[in-house]
Amino acid sequence: MTNWPELEQKYLMHTVERIPIVLVKGQGARVWDEAGKEYLDFVAGWAVNSLGHCHPVVVKAVTEQVQTLIQTSNQFYTIPQLRLAELLVQHSCLDKVFFSNSGAEANEGAVKLARRYGKLNLNGAYEVITVTGSFHGRTLAMVAASGQAKFQQPYTPLPSGFVNVGFNDIEAIKAATTDKTCAVMLEPVQGESGVNLVSEDYLAAVRAWCDQKGILLILDEIQTGIARTGTLFAYEQYGVEPDIMTLAKGLASGIPIGAVLAKEKAAVFTPGQHGSTYGGNPLVCAAAYAAVKFTIDNNIAANAKQVGEYFMDGLRKLQRKYPFVKEVRGRGLLIAIEFSSDIGKQVLMACLERGLLVNKVKPNAIRFMPPLIIGKKEVDQALDILDKALASIG
Ligand SMILES: *Cc1c(COP(=O)(O)O)cnc(C)c1O
Repeated sequence: MTNWPELEQKYLMHTVERIPIVLVKGQGARVWDEAGKEYLDFVAGWAVNSLGHCHPVVVKAVTEQVQTLIQTSNQFYTIPQLRLAELLVQHSCLDKVFFSNSGAEANEGAVKLARRYGKLNLNGAYEVITVTGSFHGRTLAMVAASGQAKFQQPYTPLPSGFVNVGFNDIEAIKAATTDKTCAVMLEPVQGESGVNLVSEDYLAAVRAWCDQKGILLILDEIQTGIARTGTLFAYEQYGVEPDIMTLAKGLASGIPIGAVLAKEKAAVFTPGQHGSTYGGNPLVCAAAYAAVKFTIDNNIAANAKQVGEYFMDGLRKLQRKYPFVKEVRGRGLLIAIEFSSDIGKQVLMACLERGLLVNKVKPNAIRFMPPLIIGKKEVDQALDILDKALASIG
C-alpha cells in the first residue's frame, strides 16, 4: 500500500494537523478508510455534508448537471442559479443573492456590500465591528475580521477597517460604534472557536442598536445556516432579521459554494462592482438547489432540533458519569463538550480508535457536527463509543 502520509509530508504545505486515517469512501453518516474500517462521521466535512455523504439527491443533481452544463461565466443567465436564488429568498427574510465559492469569499462580499452601503448612505462609513472568538474565514480581510490573535499575528499588518470587541457584550458594541461604523458582523453561534452561544437577548439588543444608528447587521450563518441549529437559519430562533447574511458550508451538502444574501435596501452592488468567475455556476447551484430543496421538503431542521436535544441529553448523562466533562452546550446539531483539562486530542483519538470521528475544537473541547439526517440510532452509537472513550481516559 502506498504510504500516503509520506506523500503528504513531501508534497503538501502543512496547514492542518492531520488525523492519521486516509478516507476513501462515504455514505450517509458513515465513512471508510483505506483499510476498510468504518467510522460514524460526526465531523461531516466540518459541518458541510448536512445530508450525509453522497446523498442520492445531490448525486443525481450533480450527475445530471455535469453532463449538461458546468460553467458559463456570469454574463449569461443560467437556470440552476436563478432557481437557487429564488428558493433561498422565498425561505429567508432576505431579498437578493450573490453567489461565491466559499464562506470567506461570501463574507468578503458582505463586507464590500456594507462598505458600499456606507459610501451611499452613511457619509463613507466603512468600519465593521466584530467580536472576540469570531471566525469569518482565512482571506486577509477575514483574518482581520475574525477576533482571534492566533490567525492574525502571522500576517500583520492586516487590512484596516475592522474593530474587534468582547463577545456577548452589547455595551462594547455601543462603545465601539462611531461615525465610521457601517456594520456589525456576528455569528449566531460561534462554531470554530468552540460552539459559544450568544445570550438570549444579546442579538435582539444588537439589532435594536443597529436600527438606532442606521448601520447594518451582518449575520455570518456559514456554519449555522441550512438547518444546522434546528431552524433553516439560526436568526429565526432569536427573533431578529439580519440586513445581510452569508451562507456556505451546508448549502450544497459538500459541493463548494457560498452566498451573500441581503435585504433590498442593502443590496447596493451595481454591475462591475463585485464578481466571481466560478461563483454560482450551474453545477454547484444544481447541487445546492437539490440539497436545500430536500432540506426544506423533509423538514431536516426539525430533525436536527429533535435529534440534537436527544444527543445533548445523552451527553449530559455522560457529564454526570465523568466529572471531568465540565460543560455540554449547543443548538440543534452543533454541539460541544468541554473538559476541565486539555484532553481533547486524547478523546478524539480514543473515539477514532472505536470508530467515531469528532472534531477537537479547542485543546479542552470537542465539537460534534454530524449530518443532519442522523437519527437516535446513530446518536446512541456515538454516545456508546464516547462513553467507552471517556472511560479509557478518566
Ligand atoms: C467555515 C466558516 C467560514 C469560512 O468558510 P470557508 O468556506 O472555509 O472560507 C466563515 N465563517 C464561519 C462562521 C465559518 O464557520
